[in-house]
Amino acid sequence: MLSYSPFHVHPKSGLPLTSLKGVGPKRAEAFEVKGISTIGDLLSFYPIRYQDRRRITPAAQVKDGEVVLMAGRIVRSGQRYLPGSGRKIFRAVVEDGSKRFELVWFNYRRGHLLSACARGRLISAFGKARVRQGLIQLVHPEIRAEWDSRGPAPEGIVPIYPRVEGVSQATLRGLIRQAWEMIGEDLRDPLPAHLLKRLGIPTLKDAVKEVHFPSHEVDLEKLMQFKAPCQRRISFGLILELMAWVLKKKMDKKRVRVRPLVIHPGTLKKFEQVLPFTLTQDQRRVLQKIAEDMTSSSPMNRLVQGDVGCGKTVVALGAAYMCAVNGRQAALMAPTQVLARQHYAYFSEILGHLNVNTVLITGLDPDSQKMLVEQRVLEGEARVIIGTHALIQDRIKFQDLRLVIIDEQQRFGVRQRRALEVKGNSPHVLVMTATPIPRTLALALYADMDVSVIREVPGYKREIKTLMIHERDKRIIHRMVKHTMEDGGQVMVVCPVIEDRQGLELKNVTRMYQGLIKLYSPRFRVGLVHGALPDHEKNQVMEQFRKGKLDLLVATTVVEVGIHAPGATMMVIEHPERFGLAQLHQLRGRVGRGGRQGVCVLVVGDATGKDGLRRLEDFARCHDGFQIAEQDLRLRGLGELTGLRQSGAGEIDLKILMGNMDLVAAAKEEIQGILEQDPDLSLPEHSWLKEIFQKGFRP
Ligand code: ADP
Ligand code: MG
Repeated sequence: MLSYSPFHVHPKSGLPLTSLKGVGPKRAEAFEVKGISTIGDLLSFYPIRYQDRRRITPAAQVKDGEVVLMAGRIVRSGQRYLPGSGRKIFRAVVEDGSKRFELVWFNYRRGHLLSACARGRLISAFGKARVRQGLIQLVHPEIRAEWDSRGPAPEGIVPIYPRVEGVSQATLRGLIRQAWEMIGEDLRDPLPAHLLKRLGIPTLKDAVKEVHFPSHEVDLEKLMQFKAPCQRRISFGLILELMAWVLKKKMDKKRVRVRPLVIHPGTLKKFEQVLPFTLTQDQRRVLQKIAEDMTSSSPMNRLVQGDVGCGKTVVALGAAYMCAVNGRQAALMAPTQVLARQHYAYFSEILGHLNVNTVLITGLDPDSQKMLVEQRVLEGEARVIIGTHALIQDRIKFQDLRLVIIDEQQRFGVRQRRALEVKGNSPHVLVMTATPIPRTLALALYADMDVSVIREVPGYKREIKTLMIHERDKRIIHRMVKHTMEDGGQVMVVCPVIEDRQGLELKNVTRMYQGLIKLYSPRFRVGLVHGALPDHEKNQVMEQFRKGKLDLLVATTVVEVGIHAPGATMMVIEHPERFGLAQLHQLRGRVGRGGRQGVCVLVVGDATGKDGLRRLEDFARCHDGFQIAEQDLRLRGLGELTGLRQSGAGEIDLKILMGNMDLVAAAKEEIQGILEQDPDLSLPEHSWLKEIFQKGFRP
């Protein structure tokens, strides 16, 4: 979402990466995946952390477990086979004048090591030391052969960047240095000097230099927390731009006039009458607010925040109904096929009683049906349109789209939201999210929105009993699973998928599935669902589970978003340490929805680690989504929390942004002050802000 590039001010910043030495089409592609395609992009690809290589540690002083830079002369080196296993090992013995130490590799390219570790050569090595009975080893160190006869020198503070496929850290650093040499010295800061001075932050040029090539004197601790002055400058740029964009949007929206909808007091009453339950106070209050918004002459822009299961769907449904009785159209966009279908089933049933036509648009419908539905949307016969992001295709045209509803907004980017909005003429916008967002962050991300919070959870007790059970007590888990199923309940077993090792992990769900089939089939019906299945198969399995035709579902996190299976009462989560807390909370919210007590078992093991255990214990005790989200934010940063799970640059931008949220207030004040005084930004001293408005933000 954030793809701020302050470097558009430099003519060369737009040059493609292939203009760097060492970047061909293949590497360019690997960078492209990370959203990096120009020299400017590369310079705004910031380090995630730093290594302290300012000092060479003599072997005699090294302690076990320390991460150190060591250096010396190769005494001897060579490879041999480990007896039995046939595994190769390459070892180099190094003498540094204080003591000898060893460098060890298990998987390696021999040619490279042979030349780097030739006898008599000077070498420096960085890695974690292992000290056993006086023997010092660095296993798989990062090495540098020293060609300079003066011997190895400390490398200073070395930045570590997010992984780019097929590009080593050393190569990355080299490329960034090249990019810097091309444009760095000429970088002009678009922000006025007096502003930088007031905030005590360096110019863009100095900041970018320091963040990529930190000086010896830098405060490493601050740097690691993304709070060094250089990072604050970058953060301020991001914040300023985000705020500028958001505030401008808010102002523009305020200026827009729309014809108010007419909503009679009886409308909501009539709606409530066809519901199978009575609305909670919170739901009623939010619906009232929405009615007020839509009967005013400026477009609504409201975010509804509420924990899993608080009943946001019915609020969306009510809003859609109010719009439809005015003869206008409402569209709801959901992040997954399954969720869209589920909403469709729910909406069409309730709205059917109210004589409102509802249709479903997903990418999967057969062509003939697709055209029919699209026709009904175009002609306005369909009043409520539910779909996935298929809704934003060019071919989908509305007759009179007045309300856009985005469900589980954290799954969509700003761009997708916009794409749906432009299909109407300044439509009302309602955004639903289960991810509670701390206030400071909401201020930055949603400054243009009015926020409603639903705290009350309807009906039955929703707290999911959460247990931690060690993997060696599998029997206990199996017994619980079996009891649950015998009792007529359904069980979900969730395994994590790690993106870069998807093949391996998929095998894990498959293996789990096969194991459980052996255990429970044919007495119980076992199903499997994961992201690599074609959509229609995924839907089919989920639908079966929803309808109670499966007793047990083995799944990856595809079940995380909004799935509503009333019969599911137990969830088993494998490797819970691999999930964010907010994500775990979403997951466990999938069970116990039908009125029966839900149980969630976190299967812990040696892989969980001490910190992991503590984190999970807190989680097991806590049932407040807001509190969990705050905790998550502290532990894992923003990406996890907002679901802005982006690769590469975006993630770091967010970390840098989050480290310096105190700047949000300063940015807001600055921009608002200027806009109040000079709304069109016509004064020359405000041209910088105008520039940011015009080019800075590329959602
Ligand atoms: P979420 O906020 O997570 O989207 P849903 O809208 O899916 O939650 O609602 C969860 C469940 O609660 C659904 O089964 C829904 O029918 C039910 N529900 C919603 N509002 C009420 C209410 N006022 N009384 C009883 N049940 C309700
Ligand atoms: Mg929902």
